[in-house]
Amino acid sequence: MKEDLKVYDNVLQLIGNTPLVQINKITEELKGEYYAKVEAFNPGHSAKDRIALYIIEEAERKGILKPGNTIVETTSGNTGFSIAMVSIIKGYECILAVSSKASRDKIDMLRTMGAKVYVCPAHVSADDSRSYYQVARRIHEETKGSVYINQYFNELNMEAHYQTTGPEIWKQTDGEITHLVACSGTGGTISGTARYLKEQNPNVKIIGVDAYGSVLKKFHETREFDSEEIYPYRIEGLGKNLIPTATDFDVIDKFIKVTDEESAHTARKLAKTEGLLLGYTSGAAMQGILQLAEDGEFDEKSKVVVIFPDHGSRYMSKIYSDDWMNEQGFFDTQNEISVQKIEF
Ligand code: PMP
Repeated sequence: MKEDLKVYDNVLQLIGNTPLVQINKITEELKGEYYAKVEAFNPGHSAKDRIALYIIEEAERKGILKPGNTIVETTSGNTGFSIAMVSIIKGYECILAVSSKASRDKIDMLRTMGAKVYVCPAHVSADDSRSYYQVARRIHEETKGSVYINQYFNELNMEAHYQTTGPEIWKQTDGEITHLVACSGTGGTISGTARYLKEQNPNVKIIGVDAYGSVLKKFHETREFDSEEIYPYRIEGLGKNLIPTATDFDVIDKFIKVTDEESAHTARKLAKTEGLLLGYTSGAAMQGILQLAEDGEFDEKSKVVVIFPDHGSRYMSKIYSDDWMNEQGFFDTQNEISVQKIEF
């Protein structure tokens, strides 16, 4: 049971210090011990709370941000929500330039959190003046004292995890961690955490999880950008079609790729076996572990930490919807639906 009954001044004090939870059933047949850093326990339900708070507070320390100033970013996802939450408490205006591909629900959620949302056409190139990158950049340039978070190309993204996620995991495992498995998008989470852990013990093995359709794994192996690797995939937040400077590829030992289908099934299995309703990339990270175990990566002495980036509530109409899974051709719906019909 939780012993900490502390009272907090505001919601931002709840960012970080997320629990490490042992994963028991889904790993039953695997060698070693498995622990999950469950980032859904952040108040904004994802690891992005850490970078939003850290980057904004760094800008305050440098005197760039003062109450009433503006924070700009290009995201409809977790980072947007976290920036909006931090902005509310700290009294900043939050402007998010999002793609017209973003769902109505996501845009409503950001507006509910006080953000001003500019919806920009999805099907224009990144250098088109109407793209969400250019719109955000323009707002930033034209707004005095504004801060552009720019998470893919901001060193502070990685630093937020170096300062918080890394030390937390080291402490929570009493320095006994042998492997870190984490998804890579901007790369901030994995590289910042890895940099800290490797400083404590260079033998901690760092394994990044990438998507089929993303360039990260190939870039890590060859240091060359291969556009042939790029094709559409469904997992959001994992992998990339460009090379983010927020990733330090040198602290990552290797990457493993996972499919949309297996990651979705593994996320659903995590809910049913561990009672953890988590996001699509948590399923991907867990799927990475299952594949690594099959490849003989772990032994009895392994103490593996996996980072689960966000909560499942944002994916109810996707991986947790049987209709969606069926539309993707992801499962044998005949079985599941017939079972449900018998129950009726
Ligand atoms: N999972 C989800 C759901 C995300 O939104 C992100 C961020 N793009 C990641 C994983 C990857 O984290 P990072 O950007 O720190 O590599």
